[in-house]
Amino acid sequence: MMNENGTKPYGLDESPAKKTILVLSGKGGVGKSTVAANLAVSISLQGYSAGLLDTDFHGPSIPKLLGMEGTRLVSNDGKTLEPAEFGSLKVISVDFMLGSRTDPVIWRGPMKMNVIRQFFQDVNWGDLDYMIVDCPPGTGDEPLSVVQLVPEPTGAVIVTTPQELALSDVRRSVSFCRALNLPVLGVIENMSGFVCPHCGERTELFGSGGGEAMASGMGVPFLGRIPIEPSIVESGDTGKPFVYHQSKLPFAREFEAMVKTLVEKAEGKG
Ligand code: ADP
Repeated sequence: MMNENGTKPYGLDESPAKKTILVLSGKGGVGKSTVAANLAVSISLQGYSAGLLDTDFHGPSIPKLLGMEGTRLVSNDGKTLEPAEFGSLKVISVDFMLGSRTDPVIWRGPMKMNVIRQFFQDVNWGDLDYMIVDCPPGTGDEPLSVVQLVPEPTGAVIVTTPQELALSDVRRSVSFCRALNLPVLGVIENMSGFVCPHCGERTELFGSGGGEAMASGMGVPFLGRIPIEPSIVESGDTGKPFVYHQSKLPFAREFEAMVKTLVEKAEGKG
């Protein structure tokens, strides 16, 4: 990623992945990590070698979403860190550093960014087709620093909810990406409508169509909608990603279709 002087802000090596997708949101609690985890698992289920990097310092939820809480990083050679594994997906989270012998001072100020830098440079990722980065929420200092640290990003997915759209947080996220020359691969509207489990009727709790209208208004692709779904809460709470454990359910199939569209865009075919 170049700054306005045409130079990289940090001396970074090349990306461990052919394609790197950042998952962003205008604020916390919209399902960004849920989307990032299921996106990464879905991509790895499609046969790609994939990595998932959780950089959300204040709420690293990827370990919980994948049932990997309590994992600690190990190094076999004393230099490189071994990523944890969920099936064939390689996973690193800031949470894996907590409770280790690492001095807690690393969590202050710029040292946090050293940890992220290390996660790119000193982890034994192998050759990845895809790296998914779950970024801190919002458009402030922390996501900005993380995005600037990501080597050779392909683009971003912005996760939002219908009511958030009304507050134009997504517009801010799109502007954030534009300021950083980061292509927006697509917007996903999460918690969009509730489908009654008994009769199948859809209720739009927070309005509908806002995501699509906003995306087309700003000239960015709209990938699709995920309904409010009690089984998504359960899937997150029990560490069983829905793209694997509930893959036959309609919302999971729709999500899979979004991932396929996204992969086509990332591969330059969309
Ligand atoms: P963020 O990363 O944006 O802070 P999370 O992915 O941690 O958000 O999700 C916040 C909460 O919302 C979690 O409890 C998660 O299970 C729940 N959640 C996410 N998406 C949905 C959905 N479509 N339907 C119901 N609950 C959801």
